[in-house]
Amino acid sequence: MGSHSATNHTPRPGDSTSAHDGHGAWPGEFRFCPHCATELVKRQVGGKLRNACPSCEFVHFRNPGVGAAVVVRDQAGRILLVKRAPGATQAGKWSIPAGYLDYGEEVRAGAARELLEETGLVADVDEVVWVATNFHDPAKVTVGIWFAGTVTGGELIAGDDAEAVGWFALDALPMLAFDTDEAYIASLQE
Ligand SMILES: [Zn+2]
Repeated sequence: MGSHSATNHTPRPGDSTSAHDGHGAWPGEFRFCPHCATELVKRQVGGKLRNACPSCEFVHFRNPGVGAAVVVRDQAGRILLVKRAPGATQAGKWSIPAGYLDYGEEVRAGAARELLEETGLVADVDEVVWVATNFHDPAKVTVGIWFAGTVTGGELIAGDDAEAVGWFALDALPMLAFDTDEAYIASLQE
Protein backbone atom coordinates (compact mmCIF):
# COMPACT_ATOMS: atom_id res chain seq x y z
CA MET A 1 0.00 0.00 0.00
CA GLY A 2 1.28 3.45 -0.85
CA SER A 3 0.50 6.55 1.08
CA HIS A 4 -3.18 7.20 1.06
CA SER A 5 -2.93 10.88 0.50
CA ALA A 6 -4.87 10.77 -2.73
CA THR A 7 -8.20 12.49 -2.52
CA ASN A 8 -10.86 13.27 -4.99
CA HIS A 9 -12.49 16.61 -5.45
CA THR A 10 -15.86 15.63 -6.75
CA PRO A 11 -18.33 18.43 -6.03
CA ARG A 12 -20.28 17.71 -2.91
CA PRO A 13 -23.81 19.05 -2.95
CA GLY A 14 -23.60 20.41 0.56
CA ASP A 15 -20.20 22.04 0.48
CA SER A 16 -21.36 25.48 -0.52
CA THR A 17 -24.64 25.41 1.32
CA SER A 18 -25.64 23.71 4.51
CA ALA A 19 -25.56 19.97 3.96
CA HIS A 20 -23.94 19.50 7.31
CA ASP A 21 -27.05 20.66 9.07
CA GLY A 22 -29.14 18.34 6.94
CA HIS A 23 -30.87 21.11 5.04
CA GLY A 24 -31.81 19.02 2.06
CA ALA A 25 -28.79 19.94 -0.01
CA TRP A 26 -28.36 16.30 -1.00
CA PRO A 27 -30.86 14.90 -3.49
CA GLY A 28 -32.91 11.81 -2.95
CA GLU A 29 -34.13 12.44 0.55
CA PHE A 30 -37.13 10.57 1.89
CA ARG A 31 -40.34 12.55 1.70
CA PHE A 32 -42.64 10.14 3.48
CA CYS A 33 -42.19 8.01 6.56
CA PRO A 34 -41.17 4.47 5.53
CA HIS A 35 -43.02 3.10 8.53
CA CYS A 36 -46.35 4.96 8.52
CA ALA A 37 -46.33 6.96 5.25
CA THR A 38 -46.86 10.33 6.93
CA GLU A 39 -45.12 13.24 5.20
CA LEU A 40 -41.81 13.96 6.93
CA VAL A 41 -40.91 17.32 8.43
CA LYS A 42 -37.57 18.89 9.29
CA ARG A 43 -36.68 18.68 12.95
CA GLN A 44 -33.52 19.35 14.94
CA VAL A 45 -32.22 15.98 16.11
CA GLY A 46 -28.75 15.53 17.49
CA GLY A 47 -27.68 18.99 16.42
CA LYS A 48 -28.77 18.69 12.80
CA LEU A 49 -31.95 19.26 10.89
CA ARG A 50 -33.22 15.87 9.86
CA ASN A 51 -36.32 14.52 8.19
CA ALA A 52 -38.53 13.20 10.95
CA CYS A 53 -42.01 11.78 11.17
CA PRO A 54 -44.58 13.86 13.06
CA SER A 55 -46.74 10.76 13.62
CA CYS A 56 -44.30 8.13 14.83
CA GLU A 57 -40.78 8.01 16.21
CA PHE A 58 -39.00 7.68 12.86
CA VAL A 59 -36.06 10.01 12.22
CA HIS A 60 -34.14 9.62 9.00
CA PHE A 61 -30.49 9.43 9.98
CA ARG A 62 -29.23 9.32 6.45
CA ASN A 63 -26.09 7.20 6.20
CA PRO A 64 -23.89 6.32 3.24
CA GLY A 65 -24.28 2.90 1.72
CA VAL A 66 -21.36 0.52 1.58
CA GLY A 67 -19.76 -0.71 -1.60
CA ALA A 68 -17.20 -3.49 -1.74
CA ALA A 69 -14.68 -3.95 -4.54
CA VAL A 70 -12.23 -6.75 -5.24
CA VAL A 71 -8.87 -6.00 -6.78
CA VAL A 72 -7.60 -8.96 -8.78
CA ARG A 73 -4.25 -8.81 -10.51
CA ASP A 74 -2.49 -11.39 -12.65
CA GLN A 75 1.16 -12.42 -12.57
CA ALA A 76 2.03 -9.70 -15.04
CA GLY A 77 0.56 -7.10 -12.70
CA ARG A 78 -2.45 -6.41 -14.86
CA ILE A 79 -5.69 -5.51 -13.11
CA LEU A 80 -9.09 -7.07 -13.76
CA LEU A 81 -11.75 -4.56 -14.81
CA VAL A 82 -15.35 -4.83 -15.89
CA LYS A 83 -17.07 -2.78 -18.57
CA ARG A 84 -20.29 -1.40 -17.19
CA ALA A 85 -23.39 -2.57 -19.01
CA PRO A 86 -26.13 -0.36 -20.45
CA GLY A 87 -28.32 0.86 -17.61
CA ALA A 88 -25.52 0.77 -15.05
CA THR A 89 -24.01 3.98 -13.67
CA GLN A 90 -21.36 5.21 -16.10
CA ALA A 91 -22.31 2.59 -18.69
CA GLY A 92 -19.59 1.83 -21.19
CA LYS A 93 -16.78 2.81 -18.87
CA TRP A 94 -14.72 0.41 -16.81
CA SER A 95 -14.47 -0.23 -13.11
CA ILE A 96 -12.94 -2.54 -10.60
CA PRO A 97 -15.53 -5.27 -9.88
CA ALA A 98 -17.71 -3.98 -7.06
CA GLY A 99 -21.20 -3.54 -5.79
CA TYR A 100 -23.43 -2.61 -2.91
CA LEU A 101 -23.74 -4.75 0.16
CA ASP A 102 -27.11 -6.14 1.00
CA TYR A 103 -28.42 -5.34 4.44
CA GLY A 104 -27.22 -8.09 6.78
CA GLU A 105 -24.51 -9.25 4.42
CA GLU A 106 -20.97 -9.64 5.75
CA VAL A 107 -18.63 -7.29 3.91
CA ARG A 108 -16.14 -9.83 2.51
CA ALA A 109 -18.95 -12.18 1.53
CA GLY A 110 -20.57 -9.28 -0.35
CA ALA A 111 -17.31 -8.46 -2.09
CA ALA A 112 -16.86 -12.08 -3.16
CA ARG A 113 -20.47 -12.24 -4.37
CA GLU A 114 -20.08 -9.15 -6.51
CA LEU A 115 -16.86 -10.44 -8.03
CA LEU A 116 -18.52 -13.75 -8.86
CA GLU A 117 -21.62 -12.09 -10.32
CA GLU A 118 -19.68 -9.71 -12.52
CA THR A 119 -16.69 -11.82 -13.57
CA GLY A 120 -17.47 -15.47 -12.91
CA LEU A 121 -14.42 -15.73 -10.67
CA VAL A 122 -14.34 -17.20 -7.18
CA ALA A 123 -11.82 -15.55 -4.91
CA ASP A 124 -10.56 -15.34 -1.39
CA VAL A 125 -11.13 -11.80 -0.21
CA ASP A 126 -8.01 -10.65 1.58
CA GLU A 127 -6.73 -7.39 3.06
CA VAL A 128 -8.17 -3.93 2.57
CA VAL A 129 -6.12 -1.98 0.04
CA TRP A 130 -8.15 1.23 -0.27
CA VAL A 131 -11.04 3.01 1.36
CA ALA A 132 -12.79 6.07 -0.01
CA THR A 133 -16.11 7.86 -0.04
CA ASN A 134 -17.83 7.81 -3.42
CA PHE A 135 -19.59 11.09 -4.18
CA HIS A 136 -20.28 10.42 -7.85
CA ASP A 137 -23.97 9.87 -7.22
CA PRO A 138 -25.09 12.60 -4.79
CA ALA A 139 -28.37 10.78 -4.23
CA LYS A 140 -26.50 7.67 -3.12
CA VAL A 141 -23.23 8.47 -1.42
CA THR A 142 -21.32 5.34 -0.46
CA VAL A 143 -18.21 4.31 1.39
CA GLY A 144 -16.18 2.01 -0.79
CA ILE A 145 -13.86 -0.65 0.55
CA TRP A 146 -11.39 -2.18 -1.90
CA PHE A 147 -10.07 -5.61 -0.98
CA ALA A 148 -7.24 -7.59 -2.50
CA GLY A 149 -8.59 -10.80 -4.00
CA THR A 150 -6.90 -14.12 -4.73
CA VAL A 151 -8.69 -16.15 -7.36
CA THR A 152 -9.34 -19.75 -6.34
CA GLY A 153 -11.74 -20.89 -9.06
CA GLY A 154 -14.47 -20.01 -11.48
CA GLU A 155 -14.27 -19.10 -15.12
CA LEU A 156 -13.82 -15.57 -16.42
CA ILE A 157 -17.05 -14.44 -18.04
CA ALA A 158 -18.90 -11.12 -17.93
CA GLY A 159 -22.13 -11.29 -16.04
CA ASP A 160 -24.70 -9.28 -14.09
CA ASP A 161 -24.21 -5.58 -14.86
CA ALA A 162 -20.90 -6.16 -16.63
CA GLU A 163 -20.82 -6.08 -20.41
CA ALA A 164 -17.24 -7.29 -20.67
CA VAL A 165 -14.32 -8.21 -18.48
CA GLY A 166 -10.66 -7.69 -19.21
CA TRP A 167 -7.14 -7.53 -17.90
CA PHE A 168 -5.37 -4.20 -18.22
CA ALA A 169 -1.81 -3.10 -17.67
CA LEU A 170 -1.70 -0.12 -15.33
CA ASP A 171 -0.20 2.06 -18.06
CA ALA A 172 -2.82 1.05 -20.63
CA LEU A 173 -6.11 1.54 -18.86
CA PRO A 174 -9.46 2.03 -20.57
CA MET A 175 -11.78 4.91 -19.64
CA LEU A 176 -12.56 4.46 -15.95
CA ALA A 177 -16.01 5.09 -14.51
CA PHE A 178 -15.09 6.24 -11.02
CA ASP A 179 -12.54 8.69 -9.70
CA THR A 180 -12.09 6.55 -6.60
CA ASP A 181 -10.95 3.57 -8.71
CA GLU A 182 -8.68 5.98 -10.53
CA ALA A 183 -7.16 7.26 -7.30
CA TYR A 184 -6.48 3.74 -6.08
CA ILE A 185 -4.90 2.65 -9.36
CA ALA A 186 -2.84 5.83 -9.43
CA SER A 187 -1.51 4.91 -6.00
CA LEU A 188 -0.22 1.62 -7.47
CA GLN A 189 1.81 3.51 -10.06
CA GLU A 190 3.60 5.78 -7.58
ZN1 LIG B 1 -44.01 7.58 10.75
